[in-house]
Amino acid sequence: MSPSYEILALRYGIFDGRRQFQNYIMPDDHAADDPLDFLVFAIRGEGRTIVMDTGFNPESAKRRGRSLICTPDQALRNAGIDPAGVRDVVLTHMHWDHAGGMHYFPAATFHIQAEEMAYCTGPCMCQPFLRRPFDVDDVQSAVRALYADRMRMHQGTAEIAPGITLHLIGGHSGGIQSIRVPTARGHVVLAGDAVHLWGNIRRRNPFPVVVDVARMLRGFEILEGLADGPDHLIPGHDPLILKRFPRLGDNPEIVQLHLPPVGQ
Ligand SMILES: [Zn+2]
Ligand SMILES: [Zn+2]
Repeated sequence: MSPSYEILALRYGIFDGRRQFQNYIMPDDHAADDPLDFLVFAIRGEGRTIVMDTGFNPESAKRRGRSLICTPDQALRNAGIDPAGVRDVVLTHMHWDHAGGMHYFPAATFHIQAEEMAYCTGPCMCQPFLRRPFDVDDVQSAVRALYADRMRMHQGTAEIAPGITLHLIGGHSGGIQSIRVPTARGHVVLAGDAVHLWGNIRRRNPFPVVVDVARMLRGFEILEGLADGPDHLIPGHDPLILKRFPRLGDNPEIVQLHLPPVGQ
């Protein structure tokens, strides 16, 4: 039998002060409300649990004016996952809202692209504009994990568990990666911030936090080729995720992405 996994999307934060011009390079309505969700993802099956991204922590949330529903580790516990027991965590990229919770996973090996580590410790970080989405504490945590033999640096496509592959995409950050997971409904791609919102990819209208627009647009094509259909490509911050997929139990903050969508 070919491997098959469950995927959970767990919401731990909301930013409802966001406007459309902050989410699209070409907004239809500059000032329209366009909130973002903050999520971590968990992949379960074949005797393992893999977490994608670690979320942000209460200190950085306060500094950047974001609100937590709960801490990301609590979100995982709400789904019956003990973060202290997780062995593999994929860091899609090193932005503050994805790499701020590495300390929640004391037993984990972190999977990152070598290009992302090079980017967030390299010459581009001399530019305050490019440095803005990073917190130096998170970058330090990554360097410490590396020196403690708890970092796997990938260079392009890599299989990290039977059937689960990482894919270097780039564009939004220097070396952002996405994950492809076999499920009962086909191959689902967790894009991370390579696609923030379905609107960004469907309208080919990129998110404005971007290092290389051309690479981001090429990334859209790569991701569409990896996913088994439009509903199999899951963006990183879209509030529609929680509306479209079936809940896990009665928790309104957790949905199951290995099941077909129930809403438009
Ligand atoms: Zn990002
Ligand atoms: Zn993000």
